[in-house]
Order: sequence, then C-alpha cells, then structure tokens
Amino acid sequence: MKEAALVTFFRVDKKLLKIFNGFSFVQHIADADNVFVDDRDAKVARRQLTEKLRGYKRVFCTISFSYQFKIIEPLLSSRWVLGGPSLPIVKHNIGHELPCELIEGTFEEYLGIPQSSRFTDYWRDRMEEFPSSQFNRLHYACTIEMGCYWNRCKFCNYSEANPEQVRRRNVGLLLAQLQPNLHCPTANVHLCTSAITVRSLREVLRSPTRRKLRLRFFARPDKAILRTFRESKWDAKNTICSLGVEVLSQTGMDILNKNASLDTAIEISKTVIEKGGIAEWNIMDGHVFANEQIVQECTETLERVKKEIKKPGFFRIYNNGRTTWPNEVTAQLMADQYGGKVSLYEANLRRLWFVKLTPEALACNQQMHQAIIDSGLKLFGEPVIKLQASPVWDPDGVITKPNSPT
Ligand code: SF4
Repeated sequence: MKEAALVTFFRVDKKLLKIFNGFSFVQHIADADNVFVDDRDAKVARRQLTEKLRGYKRVFCTISFSYQFKIIEPLLSSRWVLGGPSLPIVKHNIGHELPCELIEGTFEEYLGIPQSSRFTDYWRDRMEEFPSSQFNRLHYACTIEMGCYWNRCKFCNYSEANPEQVRRRNVGLLLAQLQPNLHCPTANVHLCTSAITVRSLREVLRSPTRRKLRLRFFARPDKAILRTFRESKWDAKNTICSLGVEVLSQTGMDILNKNASLDTAIEISKTVIEKGGIAEWNIMDGHVFANEQIVQECTETLERVKKEIKKPGFFRIYNNGRTTWPNEVTAQLMADQYGGKVSLYEANLRRLWFVKLTPEALACNQQMHQAIIDSGLKLFGEPVIKLQASPVWDPDGVITKPNSPT
C-alpha cells in the first residue's frame, strides 16, 4: 500500500496550461506522489481519480473551486484530507457530515511538519508529465500569505473565514524557486495573498524571479504600499499589481469600508507603471448604493486616470462581477439602508447573498458601466455590460468597442 497522494487539478485551455491548486494552498508534500487530473469533464476526472488513487492510504486534495469538490464528493472516504480556500463554503453548504477531514490551515500544519518552501523538485520531476506540445503558456498559483491585515471590508467573503493575523511563508525563498516550465516560454504566477503585506511586497520586488516570470498579486491601495513601491530601489518589471478598488468613487469605497483611497490607488498605479509594471484595478458591479453622486465621482475618476496615467497600455480595470455579501445580516443592512431586496443565490456549492437593485440604482450602475466602456481603458473580467441591453463582449477578455447607452 502506497503512503500518500497529492491531487492537483489542471486544465489546458487554448494552449494555456492552468494549474489550479497543489501550489495554491498547500506546499508540495515531499513524501506524497502527485496525481494530476484534468477537471474539464467531471465524469472523466472522477474515473481517472478512481484509477490513479487506487492503493493509497492517504489522499490530500486542495479545493479551489466548488466544482472540484463536486468531482471528488462521490469518492470521499476516511483516507481523504481536504484543504483549501473553498472549504468554509463547502462546510457551510454541505448540510451533512463528510467522511473525510477538512482542514483550514495548511497540510503541513495538519501533518505537524514545518512549512516548507520547496518548489524546485516539483518542477524538475513533475512538469515533464504534461505533454509540452499542447501549450505555450503556463498559469499557476502560489500561496505566499494567508489572512488579511485589514479584514474589515463589508462585502468580503474571506473576512469571516480568515484570521486577522497574517501567516506568511518564507516569501523570498519561495520566489527564488519558482521556475517556468522548461518547455513553456511564458509563465504567469498568481501570488495568493488576500492583500499583500509590506514585508512580502519588498521580497517580491527584490526577487530575481521576476526576470523569468510574470507575478500578479492583490494589494490594498493604502499609503504603506505606495511608500514601499516608491522607496524600493527595485523596478517593477513583470509585476502586475492588482489593487482592490471595487468602485470608482471614494464615497462608494468608504461605504464598503475599504479604508483606502482612490488618490492612493492612482499614485500606486503611476509608480508601478513608471517602474515598468502593470497596474490593475479590481472593481465589482451591481452597487446597491449607486446614485447620481457616485456616478459623477466615477466619471471624474476615469477622467483623472486618463489624464494622469501616461502609459494607458500598462493600466487595466478588472471586473470581478456582481457584489455579494458574506451573510444575510449584512445584505439586509445594505438593503435597509439603500433600498432593494435581499436575494439568496445558490449555485453549485455557493450560497451568496445579493441585493436586487432598485430601478434607480440599476440605472446608475449602467451609467457607470457605460462610462468605463466609453473611457477606452482596457477592461477585463466579467462583462460589466451584462446589465446593458446590447452587450459587446470579447470572450478573450478585453472589451474593445464602446457600447451604446440604453
Ligand atoms: S482588503 Fe481584500 S481581503 Fe482584506 S478585507 Fe478587504 S476585500 Fe477582504
């Protein structure tokens, strides 16, 4: 009987190899065999897992997305140990006991072994298993920190599950070992952190890894992050700094309790771009509090960005989709304050609370969407125009054509 297997889901999508987990929440467990499973087809993936996991005493699996849990659910037994960022949602929604252990920390913590920062063996020994001809780009995630040092944004789904204290890995050591696949000319690494700490940002900026890879990470638009970028003697090449702005209005950011400012977001973006990196603003849509003032502020912000960001090709907006609330109480508070109706949406394993917008708030959201599209700035992610009458959406990710107002 073999000792342990570590399940990693992957997908080859338009010549892009995406490795969803394995790195994302758990470090490679040196003694476990790696089992890679393509998760595009749930039935095939389940069959492959059944065959590949035969004879293992223990199976470790990180769940990044709820559909991955659906794949493995019929296979679960007492030999399975599950970890990963989707666990709080899985636990919340399952409604019955599972025949496996769920852990909220790392597998290393579970096993009582020190946290390791070893990646090199994984790449050298395992990446050869993927057929190199199928892809020319690689995307994977690597957890550098867990928890958020702010942890108070009203909409944040993670703040309920994550401890306020941030647990960091040895970021410098970890980054030093990240490597592109030998066969793959381009590799993007998403550095998983709820919001990068100053200490980790310094280590990212001084890391020589950026010469070989493109590193993307979430950051708060706060002054300490701005100072770190400004004071760093390192450039920001091959770095995508993804700022959690959420709404292009300071009033809106304050309502969401971001405790951060658009002024700082603009200054960070300018600095990152000057130093050779890319600045990305994460936004959400379906703002329950949208009104004429917020639309006005949004328009002014876009004007400022266009005026102050000198290289717009290095700036982009990323829409993360409709705003959800972490629990019913918060959703109800927002509905009571700004109007609208609380609505529970259950999809796959997720239970999400929305506030159905009033017609006035909907119209204001549409105006903000239109202003973003009309600005001509690069826009990625969910189609913000889905609330509009005639969406123009490029499935490859960039909205290029302006839409007509409804
Ligand atoms: S900064 Fe990000 S991770 Fe932290 S509470 Fe706000 S939204 Fe959540």
